[in-house]
Amino acid sequence: MALNPVKPETGAKLRVSVLGATGSVGESTLDLIGRDPGRYEVIALTANGNYSRLAELALHHHAQLAVVADPEAYNRLRGLLSGTGIKVAAGEAALVEAAAMPADWVMAAIVGAAGLAPTLAAVKQGCRIALANKECLVTAGALFKRTVAASGATLLPVDSEHCAIFQATVGLPADAIERIAITASGGPFRTWSREQMAKAKPADALKHPTWNMGPKITIDSATLMNKGLELIEAHHLFDIAPDKLAVIVHPQSIVHCLVECRDGSVMAQMSAHDMRVPIAYALGWPDRLDVPTPRLDLVKIGQLTFDEPDLARFPALGIAIAALKRGGSACTVLNAANEVAVAAYLDGNIGFLDIPAVVADTLDRAERGPSLPAPASLEDALQLDVSARAIAFELLTARAA
Ligand code: NDP
Repeated sequence: MALNPVKPETGAKLRVSVLGATGSVGESTLDLIGRDPGRYEVIALTANGNYSRLAELALHHHAQLAVVADPEAYNRLRGLLSGTGIKVAAGEAALVEAAAMPADWVMAAIVGAAGLAPTLAAVKQGCRIALANKECLVTAGALFKRTVAASGATLLPVDSEHCAIFQATVGLPADAIERIAITASGGPFRTWSREQMAKAKPADALKHPTWNMGPKITIDSATLMNKGLELIEAHHLFDIAPDKLAVIVHPQSIVHCLVECRDGSVMAQMSAHDMRVPIAYALGWPDRLDVPTPRLDLVKIGQLTFDEPDLARFPALGIAIAALKRGGSACTVLNAANEVAVAAYLDGNIGFLDIPAVVADTLDRAERGPSLPAPASLEDALQLDVSARAIAFELLTARAA
């Protein structure tokens, strides 16, 4: 397995930074940190434009630095924090500097490819990285892993399925594994027809049946693109071949992975669907924290069900699997096109079924040119991301017209 187990030092406070502090994962992380303030020293907290919530969090957790990516939010953030001793900065370069501030543990919870540069900066300091931002691995998986290896950083997966695999494979030799299945709730449209989905409004798609998450990942869960992104993430995190990975629909979201061994044993990890469970695992690793996350009552739940995903109704999953198998720059293009299409859907500019269509068309168009290798540097990744976004934007404008 690709993860690099390093035992944390004991005694001193754990210096923590949270990138994407104002988001769903960021807030859950700070909820856990706030329950045991004596154990942590908060270094840097970041947001995009939500300066008021960032200021509240920075004050509450006595952060050293608060950074907004959006330069227009700088003056307001500075106004709210003036006289507190908390440093304030804004802009993309400041975000990268915040991520590079010496820390023992960094939560990477910015949404989208915007998280790549800051997360790589955090990785380069060689600390423990709690990785929620799956788009980092989708956009630049090989580069990301090389940077982890070179810096000696420890990658702790936070996505619930990957945290589950991490736990279920402890002590398991890589050659013992036949297949790894990750589970999918199926999202709000699990039982909807294509005709119904064609008319689905963002408000419908944002009603996730089990998880409470930010808007981008919630739409990805509705299209099942999220599972595709997670297969790519699992491929990179666990060095597992695409044909040994699978998705199983499990509407109760209790079992998060099934690691199938060559002797017929299956290792599953279960927990209630609360992101504080995997975040707490990453925060306490390799120990277990005593946290008030919900306890699992299987008797009360009664039934756990499992099903095949329907690739005809949810083509995004098949598109992502094909990109994973194709390799090269395909996953970078896939991610960029998906981010553009999801934003357009949330803005009401395209329909729900246009999301996978725009992604597929962008991949087709990008592949008409010379085939490009996977990005070898951050600059390569950002350049590929920008050109794929331009294609996706052009295609969706034509679709919306
Ligand atoms: P949210 O949308 O709730 O939060 C995103 C965070 O990133 C916010 O702090 C936001 O700031 C910040 N942000 C957004 N855009 C930028 C930008 N361009 N530059 C810098 N910061 C930015 O997302 P989630 O917490 O739901 O998800 C975060 C990541 O974790 C995603 O990659 C997601 O796939 C992954 N993940 C999430 C899970 C969940 O349960 N939510 C589960 C598993 C993985 P602001 O508030 O100012 O906009």
